[in-house]
Amino acid sequence: MGDIRENLTRNERFLQKHPWCCLCGGSVAATTIEHAPPKVFFINKEVPAATHRVPACARCNNGSGALDQVAALASLIQATVHKDIPDKYMDKLIHGVKNNAYDAFLAIANGSSSDVLLRVDGKVDSFSKVEINPILYTNWLNPWAAKQAYALYYLHSDGEILPPTSRVLVQWYTNEHVVDESTPDTLLRSLRHYGELRQGVKNSELQYSYKWQLDKELGCFILMLQDSHMVMLGIIHNTEQSEANPDWTLFSTNAERGIHLVE
Ligand SMILES: [Zn+2]
Repeated sequence: MGDIRENLTRNERFLQKHPWCCLCGGSVAATTIEHAPPKVFFINKEVPAATHRVPACARCNNGSGALDQVAALASLIQATVHKDIPDKYMDKLIHGVKNNAYDAFLAIANGSSSDVLLRVDGKVDSFSKVEINPILYTNWLNPWAAKQAYALYYLHSDGEILPPTSRVLVQWYTNEHVVDESTPDTLLRSLRHYGELRQGVKNSELQYSYKWQLDKELGCFILMLQDSHMVMLGIIHNTEQSEANPDWTLFSTNAERGIHLVE
């Protein structure tokens, strides 16, 4: 028997320790491994830490690659840093989105871009403001963000799976919200923990970083993508609170449907 155990691959050992999909409520067996943050966010796929892996069933993992590619591209096109992104990485990402998510590709490609001046800490900076078809959010970025919430919750709650009765609130912020000062800065500062991401000796925080806090009733993750997008993910255990706010973008999950928009 000893030999058999030694012959298990690293992934098989992981799934033995983490047998349930953390993306659809906890009653479906996991057969695949998801990365949170997704590998595609990191140039040359230099993923920060092997610990950022979560168990998923085949259904929940299916299509994740396309969601990840769209989120990576959407946050890069408005970024002001990383002007030196390798062409090879960018070409591959654009090609991937075109092949796997054509409507998202069109929304990004047809987004009209204009330079906007922005004053930050007394200095004037500019960024590209891109008007994007809302389909990019409804079909791609919101479901992608909700998936990150389920995965991050699993990672930071010691393997607890967010149940079907919970809700995930998704709220995006872009550079535009910085201009009208509607980013959740106070909340961001108040979150207790920082998700540290390193690729070997290199810190990846410019590409993807997050702050978080999980309390009994509520939890929150704020992801910062490149320097262009921020997404707030609220974890709501008591649904009375979410029912009182009908304009929130809320997601739920269950074994039948996986992660889906609450309508
Ligand atoms: Zn699942």
